[in-house]
Amino acid sequence: MELTREQIAAVAEQKRGDYEAVIGLEVHLQLNTASKIFCSCSTRFGDPPNTNVCPVCLGLPGALPVLNRQAVELAVRAALALNCRVCPASRFARKNYFYPDLPKGYQISQYEEPLAEHGWLEIDLSTFMSNPVAPLSRAESRDATGNTKRIGITRLHLEEDAGKSLHEGFPESNGKTYLDFNRCGVPLVEIVSEPDLRSPQEAYAYLTTLKQILEYIEVSDCDMEKGSLRCDANVSVRRRGAAEFGVKTEVKNLNSFRYLARALDYEIDRQIALLESGARIEQETRLFNLQASHTEAMRSKEFAHDYRYFPEPDLLPLVVDSAWQEKIRREMPELPAARKARFAEQYALTDYDAEVLIATRALADYFEAVAAAGANPKAAANWIQSELLAVLKDTGKDISESPIKPAALAELLRLIEDGTLSGKMAKTVFQKMVETGRPAGDIIAAEGLEQVTDTGEIEKLCREVLVKNPDKVEQYKKGKTALFGFFVGQVMKASRGQASPQQVNAALKQLLGA
Ligand code: ADP
Ligand code: ZN
Ligand code: MG
Repeated sequence: MELTREQIAAVAEQKRGDYEAVIGLEVHLQLNTASKIFCSCSTRFGDPPNTNVCPVCLGLPGALPVLNRQAVELAVRAALALNCRVCPASRFARKNYFYPDLPKGYQISQYEEPLAEHGWLEIDLSTFMSNPVAPLSRAESRDATGNTKRIGITRLHLEEDAGKSLHEGFPESNGKTYLDFNRCGVPLVEIVSEPDLRSPQEAYAYLTTLKQILEYIEVSDCDMEKGSLRCDANVSVRRRGAAEFGVKTEVKNLNSFRYLARALDYEIDRQIALLESGARIEQETRLFNLQASHTEAMRSKEFAHDYRYFPEPDLLPLVVDSAWQEKIRREMPELPAARKARFAEQYALTDYDAEVLIATRALADYFEAVAAAGANPKAAANWIQSELLAVLKDTGKDISESPIKPAALAELLRLIEDGTLSGKMAKTVFQKMVETGRPAGDIIAAEGLEQVTDTGEIEKLCREVLVKNPDKVEQYKKGKTALFGFFVGQVMKASRGQASPQQVNAALKQLLGA
């Protein structure tokens, strides 16, 4: 039964509060090894089609797979970072299905004995409400509780990627489909969550946190646009308070965080509207249609795949003994939570500042580079959050493309600290740095923007202002001390904002005999 968008919206609007969503995510991640998982072909993205192929990844008869050790190490690293138990012995299995981009007719995956199980990660919804680096979209502002919540990870297993079919939006194809096998055999891990997520917002927070951890440990570039990180969402709804889960649908084709949240919003409403109209939810796979911003049926349970899994006869069981695990654990790069704690401690930052600065590894690296170039860490944290992130947001740039390099920002901060620039002038200089890419020192010299700190000159400016305003001086001396701010303002104006405010204050106090 299909309901129209209007019917869905009308019912869901009324009944949303009676239901609770249950969501579990399946994430596929390309590991950033140089060669493929079972052969020595390159994994380089963007090479001409079918140039990185060999008998193994093309599935030619008689070719045998050899497991890539580096792929195992990266997968174990991911498993440990996600608090999984790594199985001492796991096994590869053949997942059989026919599809043109799968020349072997089966995918080597893991099934009953996965590499790792029973992991978790923690999401913090309050972070996503306020963090300027990872802001929540419209995606569910309902039920933001601001608590951390532990989300279970059922399993993490190794498998190989399939090739790519090129049809849609490929003008030369004239309705034909072209196949590129370069991606065949690129190593993947699949990370399956428990059905612990209760809203699109939690799903968004989970995926963001997962991506953050995976980026930090350098197992993948996690680039959703390139398909290095792909996400399918399983979702069902149930009446609030019900003990049993409802029937789930699986939504595919979610290649951005925004789509994930939007697709879930839609799918939850659709399921609620169906149940309210007395219909049942079909267990099926649905596709998110970006243009229409809705999900549509792709295949139903009747056509569900029977993959006829069986143990891969060409590969030995994968043994990751405790010595190897320990070695991988020792070489683990710093995780986001540890970096946050270190930032708070080493640079005396607030928890909030540390949280914002570690949001992405690139931003955390940027901050540390500014601090290492001699800037006051607290000032660096403030300037990055207020000024730099605003500029990046306006220009749609990532921190890695920042028009101001860490050393240049550090120089600007030093000029504020040593009194060359007032805070206000620094903002002007900062804007010019963004526009021209020139260092602060050059801009100050060229535009004569230096702060006036010459005591004699400041005193002269103060005297002039007092002489021009004898009536106000009179009132001030009779007790209207609020006029002090007026005098300061006049002197600052006369100096075109360049006088040191501290010195103006001191000089005026003296002249007024305060
Ligand atoms: P399948 O056998 O259809 O692959 P699994 O039990 O392996 O289902 O679960 C696949 C994903 O679906 C997991 O992420 C899991 O958390 C999630 N999931 C399972 N049951 C439900 C449900 N009733 N509602 C929402 N998500 C679910
Ligand atoms: Zn190959
Ligand atoms: Mg499954």
